[in-house]
Amino acid sequence: MTLERAPGSFGAAVRTALADPHMQEMLDVGTARLHEHRLVAWDSLEKTDGLRETARRIRTRTIARLDEHLDGFASAVESRGGKVAFCRTAEEANEYIVSVCRNAGTELVVKSKSMASEEIELNAALEAAGIDPVETDLGEYLLQLGGKHPAHIIAPAIELTREEVTRLLSEVEGRPVEPELRALTAAARRQLREKFLTAGVGITGANFGVAETGSIVLVTNEGNARLTSSIPRIHIALMGMERIVPTTAELAVLLQLLGRSGTGQPLTVYTTVASPKQPGDDGPDELHVVILDNGRSNLLGGDYQEMLNCIRCGACLNVCPVYRRAGGNAYGPVYSGPMGAVLVPLLVGLGNAPDLPHASSLCGACANACPVKIPLPDLLLDLRRDLVGRKIASRRERIAFSLWSIVWSRPSLYRLSTRVARLGQRIGRGRGPARAWSAGRVLPSLGKRYRDRR
Ligand code: SF4
Repeated sequence: MTLERAPGSFGAAVRTALADPHMQEMLDVGTARLHEHRLVAWDSLEKTDGLRETARRIRTRTIARLDEHLDGFASAVESRGGKVAFCRTAEEANEYIVSVCRNAGTELVVKSKSMASEEIELNAALEAAGIDPVETDLGEYLLQLGGKHPAHIIAPAIELTREEVTRLLSEVEGRPVEPELRALTAAARRQLREKFLTAGVGITGANFGVAETGSIVLVTNEGNARLTSSIPRIHIALMGMERIVPTTAELAVLLQLLGRSGTGQPLTVYTTVASPKQPGDDGPDELHVVILDNGRSNLLGGDYQEMLNCIRCGACLNVCPVYRRAGGNAYGPVYSGPMGAVLVPLLVGLGNAPDLPHASSLCGACANACPVKIPLPDLLLDLRRDLVGRKIASRRERIAFSLWSIVWSRPSLYRLSTRVARLGQRIGRGRGPARAWSAGRVLPSLGKRYRDRR
């Protein structure tokens, strides 16, 4: 498992992000654009809530019988000549993928965007085995050149400025590239085309695996997943075990939501459905599907099973006031925003990411945006409750909340506490232990008298 975090790292990363005006601007512009596009795309759809409810039911039903659907999917892939590897851990998945690449005798692989591969640190495992992995999603490619991690699950390079992009691509070209969109895109295309043509293995993620047909579904706007999964002789698809959809009819519902919620498109530009090659087909000779558990099965049958419904659209990130200030890297190297704040502690254990359940204002915008209606604020509150229940919360926090509970459950003490708070608000503005908390907030004045409100 590679997602563990140092305690307190969220706060430290947020302070860095807040002090960086470029990052703040890029986050504002990037998330606002995606959010506005989403609103327009949803407006053009009739019966929006009905579709979300249908999607929620599809995901809930599927996850409730995940083992059955996974078996069906694996049988369908294998009956058509593909290979399936179930991997319980990141290490098992890395080992399997490295062994396929070694057997293929390749020293170069091309990759399309896959958050699961970030989760298991696949690139590091490949490099350790002497294999060069090249990211082909434009954002991921730029991040790889800059030695950075994705900051958004849909727009990984959301924090990069045009100047940084120009510098990174110019370094590879060995000459200055015009800082114009067309010139930058042409440079990236030139650099990547050669990689597609020479790589021995293509590694993709999987937006969905269709149990009915044994197909891997990949959605992109750049077409790079299509090239990655069709030009090299071997295609490896790495799929989180929850990404199963039982039928193509159900897939059609989820695809309508994924594009609209992620980038505000009715459908992403390229939707690729990859299956093992049949006689007379073009494409790779081998298809390997690596199904990754890595902590997901611990959620099955528990209070947090609903988190497995996530289709990784990124909509919750774009509306989250915390993500929009903190940026993706504050949450760790892979999953960020509200979905990351819930998922990461569940995958790595609450004790290894105790600050993430607090990385939310609980305003509810994420739940309203989620196309499969995951109640993210409720799950965050449940995680906070678990932190206290399992005594993972700090001693100071536990004492504070115990005192708060005693005081506010007794009317006379409650009245006394509000009087003290009013007094404190008048004389303590900008001072004392709450100074940092109140520095970026405008606090409403507390009511005059408790009695007046009755
Ligand atoms: S939690 Fe919902 S909104 Fe957030 S990425 Fe997952 S599906 Fe999208």
